[in-house]
Amino acid sequence: MVTSAYIHIPFCKSKCHYCSFVSFCSTDKKNDYLNALEQEIEYFYEGEFLKTLYIGGGTPSLLSVEDISRIISKFSFCDNAEVTMELNPEDVNSDYLKSLYELGINRLSFGCQTFNDDILKLINRRHNSSQVIKVIEYAKSVGFKNLSLDFIYGLPNQTCEMFVSDLNRAVDLELEHISLYGLKIEEGCYFYNHLPVNLPDDDMQADMYLKAVETLLNRGYVQYEVSNFAKNGLYSRHNLNYWDNGEYYGFGVAAHGYKNGIRYENFDNLKDYLKNPKDKKLSHTLSGSEKLEEEIFLGLRKLAGIEVLSVNKKYNIDFENKYKKVLDKYINLKLIEKTNCGYKLTLQGILVSNVVLADFIE
Ligand code: SF4
Repeated sequence: MVTSAYIHIPFCKSKCHYCSFVSFCSTDKKNDYLNALEQEIEYFYEGEFLKTLYIGGGTPSLLSVEDISRIISKFSFCDNAEVTMELNPEDVNSDYLKSLYELGINRLSFGCQTFNDDILKLINRRHNSSQVIKVIEYAKSVGFKNLSLDFIYGLPNQTCEMFVSDLNRAVDLELEHISLYGLKIEEGCYFYNHLPVNLPDDDMQADMYLKAVETLLNRGYVQYEVSNFAKNGLYSRHNLNYWDNGEYYGFGVAAHGYKNGIRYENFDNLKDYLKNPKDKKLSHTLSGSEKLEEEIFLGLRKLAGIEVLSVNKKYNIDFENKYKKVLDKYINLKLIEKTNCGYKLTLQGILVSNVVLADFIE
């Protein structure tokens, strides 16, 4: 049974220079979009009680409280469901946050990226560091107890010391959750054609990552996934469902979903999506070996790693025998290590995970 859903809100006020996500710099089509979203949800959602709902984007905080309420009211929820919304610090005030809290949103994820105002300008973010601090105060004061900040490392002009100082400031804000992403310049973003100078190279990005892990662990966070850290056990349950290879609905333009063993992708063109929100751009039934490969890829993102017994049972295999050569090779190289019940990547293994994981594909 599917108990997680992702909703994509594809509007942003302007485009960040590193961004190649599907987002549009105008809200002219907002109402058409909400109507299409409703149609899609009504058609596919089968009324399951959701354990997690994630409203991401784009910039969901460009929607009004009424818009958000309209979306949420389409679903039924389990007790204690995790309902997350992504927000941009510049869009929100305390009344807006209070209304979201009253609607049942209980987890907020803010795009901070860095506390360095010069770099924020350079990457074309619309907020500054004091807005982030203010918004966290507002969120806490209206009752939110599960807040997350996103950071990017490897930004132009950023040094390892600057990144560590960003993280220390975040920890001082007593956040429950912190996510870290290495800058990737992909086709379609502004930086792709206007490569900034002073971009940290791969080695420096790796150093920044290792230093970040050390900083957050020293300050009481648990690393539960390659890029994610939490306190008080407040892991992102929505994202854990992805890494546990669980099924989920994806609603909205460019959203991906996984249901009944079928991975699907919605249209990433707004016009096509609005025309027929019930059509899929792609839909693929996974074969047994594809499912197993995904299980390994996703499972090894978790710091707990993969559990051999559960994989053996689920796929009717002898995991250790099937992958003996690969496991021996990477254990010898200290890129994979044995846990009590399975295997996980080491920190050095995370840095070269693409190479390691590729070896599990037959
Ligand atoms: S990074 Fe986020 S806020 Fe910036 S343009 Fe992309 S989707 Fe919008």
